[in-house]
Amino acid sequence: MDNKKYVYLFNEGSEDMRNLLGGKGANLAQMTRLGIPVPFGFTVTTEACNKYYEDGKVISKDVKAQVDAALETLEKKTGKTFGKGPNPLLVSVRSGARVSMPGMMDTILNLGLNEETVEVMAKLTNNPRFAYDSYRRFIQMFADVVMGVEKKLFEGLLDEVKEANGYKFDTDLTADDLKGLVVKFKELYKKEKGEDFPTDPAVQLVEAITAVFRSWDNPRADVYRRLNDIPSSWGTAVNVQEMVFGNKGNTSGTGVAFSRNPSTGEKGIFAEYLMNAQGEDVVAGIRTPEDISSLEKRNPAVYKQFIDIVNNLETHYKDMQDMEFTIEDGKLFFLQTRNGKRTAQAALKIAVDLVEEGLLTKEQAILKVEPKQLDTLLHPTFDQAALKKADVIAKGLPASPGAAAGKIAFSAEEAKERHANGEKVVLVRLETSPEDIEGMIAAEGILTVRGGMTSHAAVVARGMGACCVAGCGDVKVHEEERYIEVGGKKYTDKDYLSLDGNTGNVYGEAVSTVEPEISGYFGTFMGWADEIRKLKVRTNADTPRDAHTAVKYGAEGIGLCRTEHMFFGEDRIPAMREMIVAKTEEQRRKGLAKLLPMQREDFIGLYEAMEYRPVTIRFLDPPLHEFLPHADEDIAALAKEMGLTFEDLKATVESLHEFNPMMGHRGCRLAVSYPEIAEMQTRAVIEAALEVSGKHPEWNVIPEIMIPLVGEIKELKYVKDVVVKTAKAVMAEKGKEIEFKVGTMIEIPRAALTADEIAKEAEFFSFGTNDLTQMTFGFSRDDAGAFLGDYYDKKIYESDPFAKLDQTGVGKLVKMAAELGKSTRPDIKLGICGEHGGDPSSVEFCHSVGLNYVSCSPYRVPLARLAAAQAQVKNPR
Ligand code: PEP
Ligand code: MG
Repeated sequence: MDNKKYVYLFNEGSEDMRNLLGGKGANLAQMTRLGIPVPFGFTVTTEACNKYYEDGKVISKDVKAQVDAALETLEKKTGKTFGKGPNPLLVSVRSGARVSMPGMMDTILNLGLNEETVEVMAKLTNNPRFAYDSYRRFIQMFADVVMGVEKKLFEGLLDEVKEANGYKFDTDLTADDLKGLVVKFKELYKKEKGEDFPTDPAVQLVEAITAVFRSWDNPRADVYRRLNDIPSSWGTAVNVQEMVFGNKGNTSGTGVAFSRNPSTGEKGIFAEYLMNAQGEDVVAGIRTPEDISSLEKRNPAVYKQFIDIVNNLETHYKDMQDMEFTIEDGKLFFLQTRNGKRTAQAALKIAVDLVEEGLLTKEQAILKVEPKQLDTLLHPTFDQAALKKADVIAKGLPASPGAAAGKIAFSAEEAKERHANGEKVVLVRLETSPEDIEGMIAAEGILTVRGGMTSHAAVVARGMGACCVAGCGDVKVHEEERYIEVGGKKYTDKDYLSLDGNTGNVYGEAVSTVEPEISGYFGTFMGWADEIRKLKVRTNADTPRDAHTAVKYGAEGIGLCRTEHMFFGEDRIPAMREMIVAKTEEQRRKGLAKLLPMQREDFIGLYEAMEYRPVTIRFLDPPLHEFLPHADEDIAALAKEMGLTFEDLKATVESLHEFNPMMGHRGCRLAVSYPEIAEMQTRAVIEAALEVSGKHPEWNVIPEIMIPLVGEIKELKYVKDVVVKTAKAVMAEKGKEIEFKVGTMIEIPRAALTADEIAKEAEFFSFGTNDLTQMTFGFSRDDAGAFLGDYYDKKIYESDPFAKLDQTGVGKLVKMAAELGKSTRPDIKLGICGEHGGDPSSVEFCHSVGLNYVSCSPYRVPLARLAAAQAQVKNPR
């Protein structure tokens, strides 16, 4: 006995006990307090769920005893008896976690029925049809959700009876039909489970509660939790509630209601109901529900009461409510209320309206919109009706949001060509590399078999705002034979695929898409977020196009320009390759000299796009072999183009091969070996800045040069000296001075550990948490996706550390480095430019450790602005 209270009657709880009672339980308790007609019941707590798992998946005696005691109270309160006449108590059992969680166990209604109680109910209500209708529903629900017998088997039997009798609706079934169906349902159950359907209501109840607890850990719920940052330690509560019946006849009914329109946010109650029906009928679509307005004629008193309660609940919760209600013999009951799920458009409108109606402050309203939801506002989405009809053929990681449909293209080159010919294509690759960039731009969406959330494809796609599903192991690519295989079926370049970048779903057909609409509410709402937040939001952008997009979405600067992305264009790569295969410094300088004007133009473009906003330019980072071809035929073609022999070029390519390129010759190590690369880049930056500030002195352009992959102060100093010397030389040549800053990325643990020293040279730090995560965990950001699934299954990790910052480990390094950096240089600028800069919980963390800004891909800028404002509301600094 641990003396803990595991079960709360509805009149013992309140809305602030969400963590213990779950959202549904807390709201049922609150509604009871508010005097709203709620059928009485009790909640088994989330702690009981955790205990169930701690005890090795058994419900303890303590919990059972408290459930029994609560049942007894419920019996007294209702004057009914569980499992017996003269007035049998029937209950519903529903799951209810702290936040509503799709994927968990659905509702079970009418629990407590067996041969004996069904007969009593039939006599008591003088309505055998109702009693047997309730019983057959119970058997089906219990068998399905508790015991895993497929629902469609039961539905098949129901359809047979309807067909045999020529019935159109379920309501056409007679009491005798339903009685016969109950017998068939039980036979089916026995055949499937090898045992009789449980007749003891006490057993039914314990089984149902156990099933709810079990469902907390089912694979669908696990995936949902991971995507939504819900820790498994929260557990779920279970609500047991006296049944009221909407299927008792024509003065009974059931329905769902929203206090405002969940799709548009429009003010006004949005509700539908069905007479003579039970819960699931309304959503199942078997009969078309009626609009609530018809209830006014049917029962004006109930209608008025209904409207009053809906309005009261919305005013009480200060948010749009999603409610379930039942009318039993002309008496109204509310079965649950919760903050309603809504589209992003509706979320913004409702938040703004609630402030204007005086129900919320701006700060409170800011917390009402999920940052991640904003994504859907900026990307095309699937037409929901079309999506419902489409089959999911595979599932990967939702690497970059949006919806894309097109025919399959197997290479970047092909995607580019077919796109140029007016075709819509989806690029399908084992994985992508920087060479694929143009194909990625041309494609509607990108599907990769390998790679995680920070794989090349994922990062680049997010940057471009292109839809991407990554790490989709269900797809087998036969590039040579030009087909892919999914679930035993072949798809060729004539076949369509549709990708959902929000869910990772892949469809084997063309699903139509719709363009997003950005309303005026967006501007108002985001304006409030900007007033509130302390953290600045910059963007990761490599092109003027991305920069413009980001500014449109509110970016306040560029936090990371990855200069390597500039070298993959058709016009650049030959010079880049020439530079790489050079055998002498002189040859290398020749290649670099060709790159210089292009690079200078790039930077001019960026400075012009960003105007007065700061721009951080990071020097060349990736291993050089990424720029070279690897297949023999490509090497041969390039050798010819460059006037080299095949053998010579092949030898160079091979010499650049590294066993672990991510920890190889990259980042500032390139500049240590070949300082002339840093010289060229410095020259390009300073010349561009001088030119732009000559035209626009009012912008006060101050170049920020960022040295990547630093692990040692002397290494930074060496490269910085090259930068400073070159910058001074350029300024002397031009006869003009300009202020500039040199900083570093903190992306190697050693840099974080020695950040006080590094800060002696670095004027700013930008946390490169992609590499910092890779190197702190010691697993490759490109390969970890292949095995992280096992870690989630085994609950070793709950989320992808490349998507959501690991605050315990990597975060500790960030916090420490920020403090050490400030100890040396109190005014040091601190930012983050890893992918985490666009993840809400990570943004919150950055706020809490005092960073100055986060930098993220253009399409995530609004999300980061909102997350930063929410961080300030929750934890003011
Ligand atoms: C990082 O490592 O977090 C970073 C931003 O650099 P990149 O992703 O280009 O390695
Ligand atoms: Mg990096």
